[in-house]
Amino acid sequence: MAFPAAFIDELIQKNPIDDVVGQYVTLKRHGSNLFGLCPFHSEKTPSFSVVPDKGMFYCFGCQKGGGVINFIMEQESLDYADAVRFLAKRAGMTVPEDEGRSSTYQRQERLWKLNREAARYFHDALSGQNAEQVRSYIERRGLSKGTVTRFGLGFAPDGWTNLIDAMAKLGYQKQDLLDAGLAVKTEKGSIYDRFRNRLMFPIIDLRGNVIGFGGRVMDDSTPKYLNSPDTIVFNKRKNLFALNIARKSKQGFLILTEGYMDAISLHQYGFDCAVASLGTSLTAEHATLMAKYTDKVVLTYDADAAGQNATQRAIAILEKAGLQVKVLRVEGAKDPDEFLKKYGADRFRLLLERSENHVEYQLQRLKSQFDLSQDEGKVEYIKAAADLIATRNSSVEREVFGGRIAETAGISTDVVKHEINRAFQRLKAQQKKRQERIDLQPATEIQPRSRSIRYSNIRSAAAEEQLLRILVAEPSLFAKTSGLTGGMFSSPLLGRAFDHLNRLHLEGQAPSLSSMGEEFSPEEASHLSYVISKDIGPVKEKELMDCLQVIRSEYEKQQSQSVPDLLAARARYQRTKGMGG
Ligand SMILES: [Zn+2]
Repeated sequence: MAFPAAFIDELIQKNPIDDVVGQYVTLKRHGSNLFGLCPFHSEKTPSFSVVPDKGMFYCFGCQKGGGVINFIMEQESLDYADAVRFLAKRAGMTVPEDEGRSSTYQRQERLWKLNREAARYFHDALSGQNAEQVRSYIERRGLSKGTVTRFGLGFAPDGWTNLIDAMAKLGYQKQDLLDAGLAVKTEKGSIYDRFRNRLMFPIIDLRGNVIGFGGRVMDDSTPKYLNSPDTIVFNKRKNLFALNIARKSKQGFLILTEGYMDAISLHQYGFDCAVASLGTSLTAEHATLMAKYTDKVVLTYDADAAGQNATQRAIAILEKAGLQVKVLRVEGAKDPDEFLKKYGADRFRLLLERSENHVEYQLQRLKSQFDLSQDEGKVEYIKAAADLIATRNSSVEREVFGGRIAETAGISTDVVKHEINRAFQRLKAQQKKRQERIDLQPATEIQPRSRSIRYSNIRSAAAEEQLLRILVAEPSLFAKTSGLTGGMFSSPLLGRAFDHLNRLHLEGQAPSLSSMGEEFSPEEASHLSYVISKDIGPVKEKELMDCLQVIRSEYEKQQSQSVPDLLAARARYQRTKGMGG
């Protein structure tokens, strides 16, 4: 839908991009720009930039960019209209809406409210008559009253329509409960409560919305743990249990556990930095999410084989997101919850302090995989261990761990060192090759990567880009561009950007691309953001005139081309116009 331009203008003013982005990304100032770790791809060194005075962001790593609306579209997975509503809510503005429209965002709001009501219902049911069994379970698990309240635990009573009936009284339809994953539909079309006779754990996102539930059985039925399915407000791959609390922790690191019970138990014992994944294995999205709040993660998965395999996978994912990873081994108990009950918080803190750097942990694991009493086993172990250590960039680390390997295998340090060096050189050579492949794309090349917006005339496109930059920096120079239209640009995309800016200027708004979104596809917005973010130094009118001259002369050259060529060019312009809008 089209929002009034003045409304969008005010929306952009009231949501400064550095402010909005700063809620998701830690930004550091570098000159007039801000830099941080990109929220859209995993990285260890910041290549994500925000240019506050142009109202734009751009990532040099994954080439995503745009204005504040584009950022929210990407970050919150919303379409343009819902991103606008999101920002309006943030700034306390009222959205001029079409009557009776039901947007995704409005649907989401309804489900958040329903989930909150359901959580309240479950929580109240915990003190009801039929809840003795669950209350005694909570007592057996040693959960305090404070913990139960803090996490909003509840009880889904046995029966088929308890929740459906209770929510109907509050005005919710059966379809709402189906959409929220709180109810299930049979093949015959009857509807019943998904969660029955279960201890309920509400799952709360970072903005405090109840987005889903986990439920643990109170009898022998299966599955033992049941989660809400993914819905329009709940995505297991992108959310972590208790992160809403843990992100405020002062511990300086996060503890990642396998289940809610472990996380809750840790919180009760004072480790308020514990989080758990939601019945899925750890994803890259989880890692990126954690990296927003900390640079250290301690893994405390179950002691069994499944838990240890999950640990291996998690290490790789977390390292890739630039996190320092440590592994805490629970000794004498099957999981952190049991350990805490048996030995208490102080012993656990000791484990935490002694938790191994993940390299040590992986070496230990390797050791258990080979028979070191046999020569063959030794050779294999040293090779595998050398490969592992070669991935460490610090020579000190390689030295120290090399010594450990030698000791473990009962072999001279020199031999191990030599083996690590060879593996290290091999790795470097591979990395160099990869880097060279990237460098082949020259940095000076202005050609967009995306095929659909490639420039057909580089000379003209360079002038068109520069013209846009100058006009954004110095809007008074629009006066000099009379007679120029987007259709005269060799690049249809840059031409449309010019028309967009010109229109804003004529309407008395600041000509800025920060409100891009509705008429440009995300790909186009990213490229334009890249173009506009480039620094141009002091603006000179002379330079603008040069650009104009190039654009006009290239346009005239093209005009003298054959009619079919011309028609093709016009068709291209129309097509990309249709694509974005
Ligand atoms: Zn990126």
